[in-house]
Amino acid sequence: MARVVVVGGGYGGLATAARLAKLGHEVTLVERNPQLGGALSFVEQDGFRWDAGPTTTMLPAAVRDLFRKTGRPLDKEIELVWQEVLREHRFEDGSSVALPGGTRAAQLEAVDELGAGLGQEWIDYVAGYADDWELLRRDYLERPWDRDVAPKATTALLTGREMMHKRLKRTLKDERLRLMAGFPFLLDGHELRNVPAWLGVTAYVEQNFGAWTVPGGMARLTAVLGDRLATRKVEVLLSTTAEDVVLRDGRAVAVRTHDGDLDADIVVSAIDPRRLPALVRHVDRTMPAIPPVISYLGLSGDVPELGPEVVFHGDPTLVVRTGGQAPAGGTAWTVLGRGKLAEDIVVALARKKIDIREQVEIRIDRSPRDLVEEWGGSPLGVLWQGRGTVRHRLGPTTPIPNVYAAGAHATPGSGLPFVGLSAALVAQAVGPA
Ligand SMILES: Cc1cc2nc3c(=O)[nH]c(=O)nc-3n(C[C@H](O)[C@H](O)[C@H](O)COP(=O)(O)OP(=O)(O)OC[C@H]3O[C@@H](n4cnc5c(N)ncnc54)[C@H](O)[C@@H]3O)c2cc1C
Repeated sequence: MARVVVVGGGYGGLATAARLAKLGHEVTLVERNPQLGGALSFVEQDGFRWDAGPTTTMLPAAVRDLFRKTGRPLDKEIELVWQEVLREHRFEDGSSVALPGGTRAAQLEAVDELGAGLGQEWIDYVAGYADDWELLRRDYLERPWDRDVAPKATTALLTGREMMHKRLKRTLKDERLRLMAGFPFLLDGHELRNVPAWLGVTAYVEQNFGAWTVPGGMARLTAVLGDRLATRKVEVLLSTTAEDVVLRDGRAVAVRTHDGDLDADIVVSAIDPRRLPALVRHVDRTMPAIPPVISYLGLSGDVPELGPEVVFHGDPTLVVRTGGQAPAGGTAWTVLGRGKLAEDIVVALARKKIDIREQVEIRIDRSPRDLVEEWGGSPLGVLWQGRGTVRHRLGPTTPIPNVYAAGAHATPGSGLPFVGLSAALVAQAVGPA
């Protein structure tokens, strides 16, 4: 049995700790904040409650696998429900489309409303990722990518030169379809010219598996995972900041915290590794992807009827997520902003014809800097800076033999499904006790 110290109690650290404990290791998890969850947590005030970060997940199989492999299945603990509409896109020319998830036929019909033939154009674009998905699933997402073992086609895909903006230009003639396809990367702070084209596979995953959410808030998952750690006898040290990994003869022997050293046979970094001096030189070619501007709004009275997620394209691009919890007669929205935000985000929203200025009862604003300080790094992981980024970030293994990397900053990247898969990859690389 190895003594494992997992650094970081966000979804990545929680999932890794649960998996390694189930494999028989003695696991300690250190979290610098007084509570677990990182971005997967709630913001609360006066009876209003918002998901701080994620509101849905694609690829529900990744969450189900985590629960099944660490004890009781997910549906014995919490409900994960399918969300019919992935998001509505509203464009500057006044047109809009509510994009459904889960079926090709539904997307074809919805996108065709934008113009005859556009549904087929979109479907063809997404279908172009079907083979890539199979390659990535088998040899990148479900087991650690190893150039010596993976098919040549997988390695060619992961190291390919084509970037997202080229792919979109080549395959989608309508500007609005390009905005739809590029949106997830824009929201996560990336430049399309630096995002490898293979990442467009997420459109295929969304189309085929849909978006899923937890009634009452996605962050309820954190409490359930906290209980799972207790069941698996993981020692959880809250308000404990890891300052470094202590190395001896090129191997990790402890995690240094402000409270003293925690001896370790294995260390898992589930935070931005640039924050651990022992790892910093191994990630000196990476930069973090910066979170958007966020405003959590508690509203009263009549507000416009919007679906769970509405994207208002333009500069700035604004995203309204409407699924927060509110006291009777109220509504809880989150507004995320990217791009030129020279004016107040609620005023910018009014310019997009959603005027809720009179309805705002409570408002909690967070700048990208506030968020990074609160979470000790960016939950959006590593910024895409071209095709090399896939090799420059760590995970599941690192150049230090008994140090592993999980979470948004590790392979395969940010977003709940990928962060969950990073934990499964680390568990595979470490193996049973
Ligand atoms: C606004 C926003 C919206 C999002 N929406 C979605 C969505 O709808 N769907 C989706 O799938 N994904 C979404 N994401 C992405 C997703 O939330 C993240 O990729 C994921 O939650 C990251 O988990 P993590 O554990 O890697 O990192 P984090 O959540 O950042 O957790 C890191 C944890 O480590 C702790 N920590 C940091 N430094 C130290 C240290 N030195 N010692 C000890 N502890 C430390 C932090 O306090 C934190 O708890 C969103 C992200 C944001 C910011």
